[in-house]
Amino acid sequence: DALPAETRRAIERRIRLLGPAYRLFYQDPVQVSTGRGTRLFDREGREYLDAYNNVASVGHANPRVVEAVSRQMATLCTHTRYIQDGILDYAEQMLPTFGGRIAAAGHMMFTCTGSEANDLAMRIAKHHTGRHGIICTAEAYHGNSDLTASFSPSLGAQSPLGTWVRRVPAPDSWRNDPATLGQKMAEAVAEQAWLLKRHGDGLAAFIADSLFSSDGIFATPEVLRPVAEAVRAAGGLFVADEVQSGFARSGDHFWGFQRHGIDPDIVTMGKPMGNGYPVAGIAVVPEVVERFGRDTRYFNTFGGNGVAIAAAQAVFDVIRDDGVQDNVRRIGALIRDRLSALAERFEAIGDVRGAGLYIGVEMVTDRASRTPDADAATRIVNGLRARRVLISATGPEANVLKIRPPLVFSEADADWLLAETENVLAEVYGQTA
Ligand code: PMP
Repeated sequence: DALPAETRRAIERRIRLLGPAYRLFYQDPVQVSTGRGTRLFDREGREYLDAYNNVASVGHANPRVVEAVSRQMATLCTHTRYIQDGILDYAEQMLPTFGGRIAAAGHMMFTCTGSEANDLAMRIAKHHTGRHGIICTAEAYHGNSDLTASFSPSLGAQSPLGTWVRRVPAPDSWRNDPATLGQKMAEAVAEQAWLLKRHGDGLAAFIADSLFSSDGIFATPEVLRPVAEAVRAAGGLFVADEVQSGFARSGDHFWGFQRHGIDPDIVTMGKPMGNGYPVAGIAVVPEVVERFGRDTRYFNTFGGNGVAIAAAQAVFDVIRDDGVQDNVRRIGALIRDRLSALAERFEAIGDVRGAGLYIGVEMVTDRASRTPDADAATRIVNGLRARRVLISATGPEANVLKIRPPLVFSEADADWLLAETENVLAEVYGQTA
């Protein structure tokens, strides 16, 4: 095929060694070798604009994080069965950011991945409620463990959901009236909770990604407020999955759930928490974890180790000291405005949405029918990759361009992204700029 021989050999080697379950980005996959700030470089030293990576949220190879991790690794890296100040200092600074009951008296617990955090959240929720039922959104992704995969319908129709798992439609703000979205979703949750009670032992927890990333990126504020009420009425816990939306990603707030004005029982977090060093965890309301703590115990060999905490502390310091959240708000609004201006020229851009630096651009065959156009999204994503600008696509139909750069994305980076997006749209739709 059209790929360079060297890339073809690398792909074959990968399949031979890693097997069939891994997936690559792009028809012409990128072989990365170094990263700095918002840029990636391949082995030939070619520069790529990273408009997709939400893990390296304070920039690839951020010097402050690198320094903190290296220093701690050379000092001590051990687990939570010793008293260490670092983890306590970090929890003390983090807890107030959640507001509500968690800020008042909550606790933090540490894992290595977002999957483990969601797994732990459910273990606690089941223990607290004495029930097993879980409600998630239609195309949610919550993790790769056996339990979290059982409530991750985006893994595909052949990946079984738990018999104790029920789904509700995500709050699609483009195909519904945004004013009634929350109420509709709350009614769906109440109905599914009732079915869980009728066919099993009832609802343990409702879980949602506060920006509904794999559902297609939906950012209407306040939608989850009536949902949280319905969950509480059914006796379940509300778990806010902040793996995607946390740590200032949404711009206006530090946590995505805060856009909805809710007070969750458990918040789970990961990805950007250590800028690439594996560190994740949960924050929990005290009553919810009380019986769990009494009846059983929690230990995680690597979760919350000294180096993980050093990474997390450095990320938190950078976000606070460098005005990162303000940057997210400003650059995010700028990109959305300029994409909306492009939508006036290109009929195939159905909707531009999102919050902060989490932006979705829904591609359709035409705006009247709103028919998803996955093929167009694929062409745009790969067209941008050919111009060395990296984004991806998401949603149940894979037709929503997903723009989710490191939070330190600059105005010059935004100019680069938008100029190439315009070029690629003109290429795909045959209009000249
Ligand atoms: N929750 C959400 C919303 C996620 O997007 C992901 C990862 N894509 C996870 C949980 C799982 O995190 P991890 O890959 O660190 O296990």
